[in-house]
Amino acid sequence: MSEPEIYCPCCAWWPGGADRWECTRNGCGTQWNTFWTRGVCPGCGHQWRNTACLRCGEFSPHSSWYHYPDPQESEAPEQTRIVQAGS
Ligand SMILES: [Zn+2]
Ligand SMILES: [Zn+2]
Repeated sequence: MSEPEIYCPCCAWWPGGADRWECTRNGCGTQWNTFWTRGVCPGCGHQWRNTACLRCGEFSPHSSWYHYPDPQESEAPEQTRIVQAGS
């Protein structure tokens, strides 16, 4: 269970469920929340590789909006193997 956190890689803005993006491809005009579909327009099926931030206006690759938590740090540190050097 490691849900990614979704926020703008430029300004760390968190999109909410009420935010909408508009598809501008061939006059499609569909408005939807792009993070529900990982950047795929439900109107025309076009996958948007870059997602505009509604706050700072920067376009960033869609995948860079997903921030996965660091791997568990609770694991025991790797044991250092002690090798006896031949005398
Ligand atoms: Zn931003
Ligand atoms: Zn579209």
